[in-house]
Amino acid sequence: MSDDLLGAALVRLDEAASHLNIDADVIEKLKYARETTKARLMIRMDDGSRKSFLAWRCRYDDTRGPTKGGIRYHPDASVDEVETLAFWMTFKCAVMNLPYGGGKGAVQVDARKLSKAELERLSRAYMQAFARIIGPDRDIPAPDVYTNSMIMGWMADEYAQIVGHAVPAVITGKPIALGGSLGRGDATARGGYYLLRRLAGELGLGEKLRIAVQGFGNAGQHIARLLADDGHRIVAVSDSSGAVHRADGLDVARIVSVKAEGGSVSTLAGQDGVEAITADELVAIDCDVFVPAALENMIHAGNAGSMKAKVVLELANGPLTAEADTILNSRGAIVLPDILANAGGVTVSYFEWVQNRQGYYWTLPEIHDRLRATMEAEGEAIWRLSRHKDISMRTAAYVHALARLGEAIEAHGTQSFFVS
Ligand code: GLU
Repeated sequence: MSDDLLGAALVRLDEAASHLNIDADVIEKLKYARETTKARLMIRMDDGSRKSFLAWRCRYDDTRGPTKGGIRYHPDASVDEVETLAFWMTFKCAVMNLPYGGGKGAVQVDARKLSKAELERLSRAYMQAFARIIGPDRDIPAPDVYTNSMIMGWMADEYAQIVGHAVPAVITGKPIALGGSLGRGDATARGGYYLLRRLAGELGLGEKLRIAVQGFGNAGQHIARLLADDGHRIVAVSDSSGAVHRADGLDVARIVSVKAEGGSVSTLAGQDGVEAITADELVAIDCDVFVPAALENMIHAGNAGSMKAKVVLELANGPLTAEADTILNSRGAIVLPDILANAGGVTVSYFEWVQNRQGYYWTLPEIHDRLRATMEAEGEAIWRLSRHKDISMRTAAYVHALARLGEAIEAHGTQSFFVS
């Protein structure tokens, strides 16, 4: 991870501010996290020993509503990363006009090394540590890297035990049986898919695309499936242990089943013309659309120059460094930025929270229609802004969000500067 991820992210805020007539007070408010809480989670391991894990929850800005954002389990998690991810959530929710601010949480842990029972104790400990600052009108967590609906279910249950009754709207991405929403599982990828489909004409993309996907977790698997189902070719994919390539297209269903059994994408190499490639070769692969769906800063000054894709669909948060952006922009590639392209996840989280609060649940076609309409409306507005002002889609997305944030910050007056 970069030493100063937040500092690098704030450069994009300054860039956006230069295209808007916005009060300096607004920018000052958005430069710092409102509150970041740190805890050490102590759990009992299966062998009877105790082990502790560092954990955080950041509520970056709540001007537009309760803070919203996932909880990540990762051995490299840090306070800088959590605050940066929470900053991005603040802008993502504003891009989509969701009535939320931005938050994020993390535990510094390699979740793959824990048993299921240990994972449950850790997740319950997280909720115990942060229940004071979490709540359906205060801060609403969700899944992120290496967390899933099962973990959200344990956390929802722990919160119910703490307050004495079920509060489904306290967390999103829950199992359907606990009030989760239909369509939340593939929402991040589906939002990106709707966006790409809507802007394909403007982006000059043809009918049958060649796609490379970096990262094969929730977002990567679903985008590969959705695009393959439409007849596009998934020519390369990677996960944390390797990458594979097949110019005629990979068998996505087969890779998904290998992953479901705990295998890596690279176990397919050597069969049916599938060849193993390196992580850098994946970035340089001949394709139309490159989909980063892994972690931050994976496309950087050292590999961006080799990328051939016309369009980058950022399903990961912060996958491109600012230098990579400059390199891609100068060659005319278009980056559909994370705060727009991966906002489908938090958008369906919002639908879940709405359904929990009204106690009335929507059908899958209703969820898909609402998600599509939102992605298309915000995507079109940002596309127009980027053409009108001759700025990148990323800068346009920040300008679009900043206008909404600025309006809300001004409307609150100085009161919102006080920490309660
Ligand atoms: N972790 C996802 C993100 O980065 C979803 C957050 C949410 O649903 O609140 O956007």
